[in-house]
Amino acid sequence: QLTFEPGEIQTAIEELHHKYRCLQVGAIANYIPELAKMNPDWFSICVVTADGQCFSVGDSQQLFTIQSISKVFVYGLALEDRGRDRVLATVGVEPTGDAFNAIILDERSQRPYNPMVNAGAIATTSLIQGKGATERLNRMLAMFERYIGHESFIDMPTFMSERTTGHRNRAMAHLMLNFGMIDEKIDEALDLYFQQCSLMVNCLDLAVMAATLANCGINPLNKVQAVSSCYIRDILSVMYTCGMYNFAGEWAYKVGLPAKSGVSGGLIVVVPRRMGIAVFSPLLDERGNSVRGVKVCEELSQRFGLHLFES
Ligand code: GLN
Repeated sequence: QLTFEPGEIQTAIEELHHKYRCLQVGAIANYIPELAKMNPDWFSICVVTADGQCFSVGDSQQLFTIQSISKVFVYGLALEDRGRDRVLATVGVEPTGDAFNAIILDERSQRPYNPMVNAGAIATTSLIQGKGATERLNRMLAMFERYIGHESFIDMPTFMSERTTGHRNRAMAHLMLNFGMIDEKIDEALDLYFQQCSLMVNCLDLAVMAATLANCGINPLNKVQAVSSCYIRDILSVMYTCGMYNFAGEWAYKVGLPAKSGVSGGLIVVVPRRMGIAVFSPLLDERGNSVRGVKVCEELSQRFGLHLFES
């Protein structure tokens, strides 16, 4: 239960929005034109509690592509499709300390290190069940709809750009095929991965998705079970140790909450059994995390005593 009044949340996010609105540190991802044309001023903070109260400030309706934040939810679907042992045989749960797009596998097991870096995410996506590409995509879209609470869509220009420029991701897929970690249908797996990254969401959607994870897999607004509650601990564990890439350790120390960032500037944070937080601001630091997003979450965690090991 909350140890503070709901009104305090709205006041806090408005104050933080005001405080960091003019912070112009960081850079917008520019590896594809669809990301490069984002407005650096876009900024929103949203909170959805486990009992369904919504708080928001800023550009909460602005659509953008979900990018790496999708990895969290696709990991949940892979666990439901294949079970814990099968998923763990293909993707590890070890933080890397390397960049999100590092071309590296665990030497001993030949698995990608974890599902939050690109290699591990591609391997995770390759585990999604379905007869052919369309059924797999539709199952994935249905999964996202359960978390968001309404239908969403793939941004076609982003998908096409990711697909034509994604040589690094393609190289990782080939490396994993070489080691037998994924099957020969690598083009299908890569397309599905590029599609999941190109899903359009807004900041409020992300907060609802995070709140669903906070609420044992049940969307707090429409009460739909988005993912089986038995996999919440798997999802939150890898978010906690790996969700912020090579900043995960410092994040765990300072903020102390499971989180996931994406290259379009989104950031979700889960406060188990209490709330989901989302921040959207496209200016990124050198590790690929939203600059304002990190600052806002550090302060929110501190102000409300949200660190998991706070005593
Ligand atoms: N589409 C991006 C990629 O695969 C996602 C990475 C990210 O958001 N960090 O490189």
